[in-house]
Amino acid sequence: MSVDLSTNITYLKGVGPSRAETLGKELDIHTYRDLLYYFPFRYVDRSHLSTISTINEEEPFVVLRGNIRDMHTIATGKSSQRLEALFDDGTGQMVLVWFQGIRWIKELLKPNVTYLLMGKPTYFNGQLQMSHPDIEPMGAASSGHQFLPVYSTTEKGKGKGITSKAITHMVDMLFAQMSGQVEEILPDEAVQHYRLMPRHTALHAMHFPKTATEMQQATMRMKFEELFLMQLDYQFSRNERKRHSQGHQFNVVGDNLNRFFHEKMPFEMTGAQKRVVHEIWNDMRSGRQMNRLLQGDVGSGKTLVALLTMLLAVDNGFQACLMAPTEILATQHYNNFLRMLDGLGLRVALLTGSLKAAEKRTLKQRLKKGEVDILVGTHALIERDVEFARLGYVVIDEQHRFGVEQRAKLWAKSEVAPHILVMTATPIPRTLAMTLYGDLESSVIDELPPGREPVRTIHGTDAKRLQLFDFMRRQIAAGRQVYVVYPLINESEKSDLKDLMDGYESISRAFPLPHYQLSIVHGQMSAEDKSFEMDRFKRGVTHIMVATTVIEVGVDVPNATVMVIENAERFGLSQLHQLRGRVGRGGGASYCVLMTRDDLSKSARERIRTMCQTTDGFKIAEADLKLRGPGDLQGLRQSGLLELKLTDLVDDEPIVRAARDMVGDILQRDPDLTNYPKLRRYLAQHSTHQQWGKIS
Ligand code: ADP
Ligand code: MG
Repeated sequence: MSVDLSTNITYLKGVGPSRAETLGKELDIHTYRDLLYYFPFRYVDRSHLSTISTINEEEPFVVLRGNIRDMHTIATGKSSQRLEALFDDGTGQMVLVWFQGIRWIKELLKPNVTYLLMGKPTYFNGQLQMSHPDIEPMGAASSGHQFLPVYSTTEKGKGKGITSKAITHMVDMLFAQMSGQVEEILPDEAVQHYRLMPRHTALHAMHFPKTATEMQQATMRMKFEELFLMQLDYQFSRNERKRHSQGHQFNVVGDNLNRFFHEKMPFEMTGAQKRVVHEIWNDMRSGRQMNRLLQGDVGSGKTLVALLTMLLAVDNGFQACLMAPTEILATQHYNNFLRMLDGLGLRVALLTGSLKAAEKRTLKQRLKKGEVDILVGTHALIERDVEFARLGYVVIDEQHRFGVEQRAKLWAKSEVAPHILVMTATPIPRTLAMTLYGDLESSVIDELPPGREPVRTIHGTDAKRLQLFDFMRRQIAAGRQVYVVYPLINESEKSDLKDLMDGYESISRAFPLPHYQLSIVHGQMSAEDKSFEMDRFKRGVTHIMVATTVIEVGVDVPNATVMVIENAERFGLSQLHQLRGRVGRGGGASYCVLMTRDDLSKSARERIRTMCQTTDGFKIAEADLKLRGPGDLQGLRQSGLLELKLTDLVDDEPIVRAARDMVGDILQRDPDLTNYPKLRRYLAQHSTHQQWGKIS
């Protein structure tokens, strides 16, 4: 007989409604399954004994063996007291302290009994002590386990008795209370091929491993399960969408494309651009709806790909839109399109938040009547009252700034879902792409336009500032332009803005008018002022652009060859990479100078070192993932990825790969999972993609 894992946790012996409520609220444990999958975050190896004479406060957790020497209560208030006992392990003595449950502890502890003591040692008044340690007689029944699980819990949880020890007890209880085995969920072929530990055994071993090897095997099995089920969810929904979703069919290669190719192409496309454009065109001709991720490092020429594919939509009588994360970028795309499409008679429009109400109204009417072919805009595009006559294609630029939810809103804008292209310049480590975007097709531009030299990256501190200014002067004298960027993590932070203003002052002194012209751009300026300044820099009127990270994404001024990043230690790797991508676009030698304080934290040093060593976006993304973990990566918050409890996306790449390939195999042989009723049931109960299936 197998156990029903969805059984409510209240049915577990010793867990009444009030404990169940705490478990649910504090630890998100509601069912037997939740408890079984609430894995320890580490284990205490009880065979690894410490000695009092050698331990110190640094140690997170120690196990000691010894005797209780002396025990007494001390009054600490009218009705409060504490219990102190002296613990002796033969090498030294330590004070044990209890503030609660005193009567019970007093009865429990006996002299002349050898105890196993576990807890975190601390110093109090120069004396080593431990408060509320776990203590049990040697050879007690529960010490059968060599490894003691340690569970994380919350302060509130602890206050209500949900301690690590209590959780250990509950899990023990659950296994004892189960009348059968936890049913295997992975297909036989997976278990056999990878010689995986059966589910029931593995779950038990995750909590109570007998040996280190068993612990490793159990972990490996649970990682595989976690990744397999996630892949199943992604790949199944992708296949379903492919099989059932209707998409607009763009069969015609018409006038606009032809004329653009023959009259307007500003340069020869790179091999990678050609390949990707064809991948997208093929999708658009297939009759099925496209959902594609386009990855290409900064400066790899994604905009042209967007434009060429948008023209196909227009040639087939549809409207296309491009959504950018900032107004600066949207405006830049719009102006580029106007320039590149000049003379073709296409109707291109720009929709941003700062459009005047009347203009917005007119534009919306034109959109609805189908009088706009290509719409460029910010997230103002996804407002509900923006309606299209025949939206056929949506491009989302720099998607790491858009959440899944926002994408879904766009998809809902036409009866037959439009084709979707999501472009990102923040390269995603391969493992991540496999997991996160298992449900999107993917294209990669892995080649930069010819003549680009990798940007030379240099680390500098204040001592080198004069040298830096000299270098900037020489570059400007050679006709080049310079960015100086200040971190502005929070646009409303006054102190950040002050950094920028102080910096601007000192640069104005070092680069005085009329010989030097400066631009400044930050988030508190009006959109109009921002674009005025951007435009002056773009046209080469100004030599230095002093800015916050508003210029981080996508801004394209090929003549700029120097990027100075102030307080570079405050930026994350992907941001630094994005910023550096603003230079090295014009075919000349380019430089990125990372200015930092002298004393850097370990991780800041590591970031700076990575930047100086490589310009390869994929390598940087992997370093980023290693340094920060996926929780902090932009755009991943809404992904299911953070639900991965065990998998380390960098180190576990082989498992990610194995799970993905096996799911792929199974779905290819048996797309409906006819022979895999358990997997079908799993999907029916757990799929996070149902709504996606409907929308797209
Ligand atoms: P990103 O991929 O970062 O969005 P862009 O589309 O902004 O890159 O392109 C970066 C720069 O490279 C632009 O100035 C663009 O005009 C230029 N570019 C794009 N494709 C080519 C090409 N095939 N040959 C030469 N220059 C190109
Ligand atoms: Mg771009």
